[in-house]
Parts: sequence; C-alpha cells; structure tokens
Amino acid sequence: MSRNILLLGAPGAGKGTQSKKLAEEYDLEHVTTGDALRANKDMETEYGTPRSFMEAGELVPDPVVNEIVKVALEEADGYVLDGYPRNLDQAEYLDEITDLDAVIYLDVSEEELVDRLTGRRVCDECGANYHVEFQPPEEAGVCDECGGELIQREDDTEETVRERLQVFYDNTEPVIEHFREQGDLIEIDGEATPDEVFDRITDAIEN
Ligand SMILES: [Zn+2]
Repeated sequence: MSRNILLLGAPGAGKGTQSKKLAEEYDLEHVTTGDALRANKDMETEYGTPRSFMEAGELVPDPVVNEIVKVALEEADGYVLDGYPRNLDQAEYLDEITDLDAVIYLDVSEEELVDRLTGRRVCDECGANYHVEFQPPEEAGVCDECGGELIQREDDTEETVRERLQVFYDNTEPVIEHFREQGDLIEIDGEATPDEVFDRITDAIEN
C-alpha cells in the first residue's frame, strides 16, 4: 500500500535520518525541496526556472517551490515529504494538491537541538562528518579518514544555531498548529536513539 507521509521537525530533530528509514521501510519516494529543485532546475514556471534564481544566488520564491513540489509528489507512488511546508501558506497549498495519510512532528527540545547541532565537526581536508558526542573521531579534533583537522562550521556555532532555530519556530509553529487543528498531527518524542524514534513512528503510523 502506498502512503503519503509528511515529516516535520526542527533542524537537528532527525528528519533526514527518519525520512530515509521510512522511505526504505515502506518503499516510498523521499521527497525534499532541495532534491526536487535540483531535479527540476529547468522546469518553466510562470515566474521563471529554479535555475534562474539559483544562478543569481537568490532564494527560489515560494510559488516556484510550490510548483516543483507538486510535480515531485505527483510523480511519486507514495512519499515521505521532508523540508516542506516551511510556512502556513505552503501548508495550505499542500492541502490543496495532495492527500496526506500521516503528519508526523518530531518533537525535540531546543536545548537538545542546540547540543546536537553545535556538536557537529567536519574535516577541513576531506569533508567527513563527526559529532563530539554521537559520532566522535578516535582522536579528538583529528579526522579518522585522512588525519585532517576537524573544525566547527560557522553554521554550527551556538549563536548561529539559535538563530536558525528561531527562524524555524517563527515559520513552522503555525504549520504545526495548522495540522494539529485538523486533527492530523502525530507528535513523536524525538529524544531517543534513531532506532527507538523510528519504532515510535512506525507504531504510530500503523496503529
Ligand atoms: Zn578527513
């Protein structure tokens, strides 16, 4: 049976990991806004192609993103949607273009998100990813793969992380409230290991 699943959650809540596992478990397409845009760079819309905005270094405007997501969902025989909708307008648009079988919100406290996001380290040489707590290298600060230096990206400093989370809360809380009012929202405690969180999600979807 094909399912249409929407996964909501803050940066660091584990959306990407859980989306991939769900797509595998139920044989669904994993649809992200970024992938959909890259796959349809030259799609003509009323407002221009995604490429025209990307190459100008501009954010792709909502109406263009909406059309691209619509095409990606139409092409999928069941999907896990991740990274969309980012605001209430997009949530209302989504209601018009598709039928969702499950809307899942991965609930993780702000402090836990900050811990997860500020612990990321990346190798300056080869780009390998680590986490000081969840995926530490054998030797602190040194890449297991190539011996390069591990650095914290500007995006992962506490100040930037808190700003990113604030943007998420401002834009996405109305989205969560929208689905809660419709009675469709399944809230999952996301503060556990990826396998435990996955079990909670599949239990909720199947029951
Ligand atoms: Zn390296």
